[in-house]
Amino acid sequence: MPSDSVLRIVWIYPDLLSTYGDQGNVLVLEQRARRRGIETETIHVRSSDPVPESGDIYLIGGGEDRPQILAAQRLRKDGGLQRALAGGASMLAVCAGYQIMGSTFGGEEGQPVDGIGLLDIASARGPARAVGELVAEVDAALGLPTLTGFENHMGVTRLGPGVRPLSRTVKGIGNGDGYEGCYAGHVVGTYLHGPALARNPALADLLLGWRVGQLAPLDDSRYEALRQERLATVLAD
Ligand code: GLN
Repeated sequence: MPSDSVLRIVWIYPDLLSTYGDQGNVLVLEQRARRRGIETETIHVRSSDPVPESGDIYLIGGGEDRPQILAAQRLRKDGGLQRALAGGASMLAVCAGYQIMGSTFGGEEGQPVDGIGLLDIASARGPARAVGELVAEVDAALGLPTLTGFENHMGVTRLGPGVRPLSRTVKGIGNGDGYEGCYAGHVVGTYLHGPALARNPALADLLLGWRVGQLAPLDDSRYEALRQERLATVLAD
């Protein structure tokens, strides 16, 4: 737990990257922390502002190709996120934000654009747009239930030896290689919108637990009923 007992959530570049309700990830983290008596402070970092290094959990969302390129340039120049993660902060990076975390990704004409190199992944334009519901089984080492979400991207992502696949794709495209997302240390990358943490509260608790330690259980029965309903519908399709 942070020394002053306030959990700092940093939402990176809402003015450039926040599609399909990604900002909901911030709300879910805040709410699940507060329901356990953990005080939170949320910092919205616009792309004109420096990224603070004192955050506990960093979030970045998806977006169109041009804002994505701009975000990568600004994050590279800023360096705050890089220092925060080197200092042990955790992070959830979604879609465009996920691709930015790698060495390279495809721009609006498919041209290679430099990422910020915090995850051992490389993305490029794929053969077709991946759009629709996604279902994936999580790496057993993480002990999380089935992931559900929505994807909409042109990019495909190749994982290097420095990361592990987050999950194996059951429905949808994900990375494009049979896997969805990746993780390394306390950083998770995923193509899941929805928002991801509302659809998958256990993923929110993974991020919280990395910073806070043991978490008191919550009554998630209503969320679980919704999850099961959605999973049954998507898998029956
Ligand atoms: N622009 C990226 C792509 O199409 C990311 C899209 C997104 O974040 N939804 O691959």
